[in-house]
This record gives sequence, structure tokens and C-alpha cells, in this order.
Amino acid sequence: MGNADGIAVEGGQKSGICLTFDDWFLRGWYGARDLFNQYDAKVTFFVGKPDAIKEKGWAKLRDLQSDGHEIGCHTMTHARQTKFLSEHSFQDYITKEIVPALKIMRENGMKVTSFAYPYFKYRPQLTGLLLDHFTMVREAGEQAIPVHAIYPAKGNVNVNVMGYLDRTGADLPVSYYEERFSLLSKYGGFGVFCGHALGPDQPKYARMTCSYDDLEEVLALARKHGLSMRPMRTIGFPKWGFRRALA
Ligand SMILES: [Zn+2]
Repeated sequence: MGNADGIAVEGGQKSGICLTFDDWFLRGWYGARDLFNQYDAKVTFFVGKPDAIKEKGWAKLRDLQSDGHEIGCHTMTHARQTKFLSEHSFQDYITKEIVPALKIMRENGMKVTSFAYPYFKYRPQLTGLLLDHFTMVREAGEQAIPVHAIYPAKGNVNVNVMGYLDRTGADLPVSYYEERFSLLSKYGGFGVFCGHALGPDQPKYARMTCSYDDLEEVLALARKHGLSMRPMRTIGFPKWGFRRALA
């Protein structure tokens, strides 16, 4: 049993998962509220293209935030980074993709401290600049050796993904999660998972989706393994950022 932030977990629980969902599938995310509450799962939604979100959408995101979920930043235009950086500087990426997105999100009541790169394309130098604006950055996609994506319960700055949550679209069997959750229980630590659409939302790329039933199976399995389910920011530095922690 944790507090709303899931930081102070009774019994000093050291193993868990950060479930993250990317892009703009607000309807399906919102429809999973009861399911997340039922399993005491607090997750992170990485929102991209915030200028396209209407007032109703912001109201949904504010409700999700009130439930204890985290709303993170996933850039202004979801640009292909390789192409963007072939034409612009790292600083341009901050000016065009980060600053305006943060402004819109904060104007709409979002408390944003985490960032996820689109397409899992990251640059270490850019992460350095991003850490002026965020306390946690999610960089690469699924790691070939899952044990390499197990992180301490707090104090991280950048993390890679241990596995995906697009179960239904990508046909991921329960054994995929069993393997990863067993490693987390065995070694201790947190794994970050990434999905996209949930429930009824049908993304343009059909693989990027997970039905509520398939999501519930993952949540139940995490509970069975005694894994807490926390937003990504909680495995960063508590309250203040890396830079400020060093100051
Ligand atoms: Zn994305």
C-alpha cells in the first residue's frame, strides 16, 4: 500500500513496474481508469501533439492525474528525430519540440516532469539538454537482454524499456510478461514497459494496441509477483531533479 505517489511503499517494496502509454489515445486510457484503480496501478501517459487536444481531452487527463497517474511529455509534433536533427540542432529540438509542448500542457494543469522519446530514437547529448526540463527521460525500446533494463527503485535519470504492452496488436503471450516479472522479483528493481492504445481505441498502426482483457491479465500477473505499479517519475530522484540534486 503506497501513498498517492507510490514513493513511500510500506514494507520497503523494491520491485515493481512502470507502465507507460504513449501518444494521444485518451479515450481508451480513460476507459481503463477502473481497471487501474482495481489493481492499485499508477501509470504514466506520455502525451504527444498537445496542441491537438481539446478541452474535453484535457479534462480526461486532469482526472487521470487526480487518480495518481502521471502525465509526461512526448514532444510537440512527434517528429522523426533522425530527420529533424539532419535539418536542425539539438537546441532547436528543445525550442520546437519541448518548450511549446510543456507550455500547453502546464497551461492545462499538467504537472510534467518526465519525457519519452518518440520511436525510441535517443541521443545522449540531447538527453543532457532534456534534463534541464525533466527529471526522468525514457530513451530506448525493448532491451535484448531484459535484465539490463532493471533499475533501482529511485535515483534514476534515464531508463530504457524492458518490454512492450501492445499485447493484443503484437500478439504478446502471457509468458513474455511471466519471464520479465520473474526477473524483477528475482533480482529486485523496476522495469519500464511501453504501450500505446488501450481498449476500443484503434490506432493507425494496428499493432500498437492492447484490449482491456489483455491489460487486466498483465495487471493480475504483476500483482501475483508482488510488483508495485508506479509512475515513471517515482523511480527518478524524489521531488527534485538530477541537476538540482547535485547543486
Ligand atoms: Zn510515440
